[in-house]
Amino acid sequence: SSETDLQFRDPDAAHELADRLAALMDDIGESVSLMHVCGSHEQAIAKFGLRSMLPDGLSIRMGPGCPVCVTNMPEVDDAVALAEQGAIVATYGDMYRVPGTEGSLADASAAGADVEIVYSASEAVELAADNPGREVVFFATGFETTAAPTAAILAGGPPKNFSILSAHKYVPPAMEVVAELPDTDIDGFLAAGHAATITGYGLFEEFVDQYETPVVVGGFEPLDVLLGVERLLENIRDGEAGLENAYPRCVSREGNTAALETMWDVFETTSGEWRGIAEIPDANLVLREEYAEYDARTRFDVDPAVGDSDPLTEQCLCGDIMAGTADPDDCDLFGEECTPGNPVGACMVSSEGPCKIWQEYGGKP
Ligand code: SF4
Repeated sequence: SSETDLQFRDPDAAHELADRLAALMDDIGESVSLMHVCGSHEQAIAKFGLRSMLPDGLSIRMGPGCPVCVTNMPEVDDAVALAEQGAIVATYGDMYRVPGTEGSLADASAAGADVEIVYSASEAVELAADNPGREVVFFATGFETTAAPTAAILAGGPPKNFSILSAHKYVPPAMEVVAELPDTDIDGFLAAGHAATITGYGLFEEFVDQYETPVVVGGFEPLDVLLGVERLLENIRDGEAGLENAYPRCVSREGNTAALETMWDVFETTSGEWRGIAEIPDANLVLREEYAEYDARTRFDVDPAVGDSDPLTEQCLCGDIMAGTADPDDCDLFGEECTPGNPVGACMVSSEGPCKIWQEYGGKP
């Protein structure tokens, strides 16, 4: 962390903020449910024990903020099939062990397929440059934070043996779906600072107007999270649905306009299933026609022959957790049949996955 970030860990200031939250809750006089939409927020909450600092009646639920967790099984199946068909599949480490219907990329690798873990889209391109005789497919996952760099790579004209299998996702439509779920009654959203560095916080204006629910963009240090919560509670106390930026050291209203422009030049939205949540209109990013030559789905005949999934998968509550209607410890498999060493669902694999985070920090944070 930078020095500035460390200032946002001051315990005294955190306790003062916690007192302020308690006073705000007294003013509000009824229970409040907030939702964050970012795995990094859950990490901060778990790591610094922030839930234990919240006053009675205030809960922070998890939302669809882990892109790996909402990647649908057929998307993993496609990546596995491409690896089995002989392509080198490059993937972020978080995706490597996410189970598909029958197996993960890790399983494919163990069976002899070429699967390479990369840290960036540009590393995947280097892999293609280093292996001119092979097809390299980048299994591209993540929200705007990673979709923008993927787009920049494609706009830059990568080698001809490079293509992408896009599982990139776009958060705002998913927030709408979650806001409309009958079982969730969310009074305010803490939106992810990472994605907002690209999109700008102005992106949430429409959501705020339509759902009359406050949205605050927050950072990832403990004080950032508590400050975001404070702003949300102030809105709720005042009966307002405001849009605020509680992460001004990184986020602007407009975001990174050049990166955004490239992203929308390369990608367009389409409807897609978010694992265990719902079919969400306009929430998946696919390549535009102009970039079809780099689309693995166009270039190859991806036809995964999948059998039955592991029966345990049926019990996985990852989708409900991502929709804010369940917690990891509501799942019977949590910490028993499902552990980071032997994950049943994606929520136990990704470093942004709530089940993995709760396991890492010793249970309910
Ligand atoms: Fe799914 Fe495992 Fe989490 Fe249960 S503990 S919801 S099986 S990832």
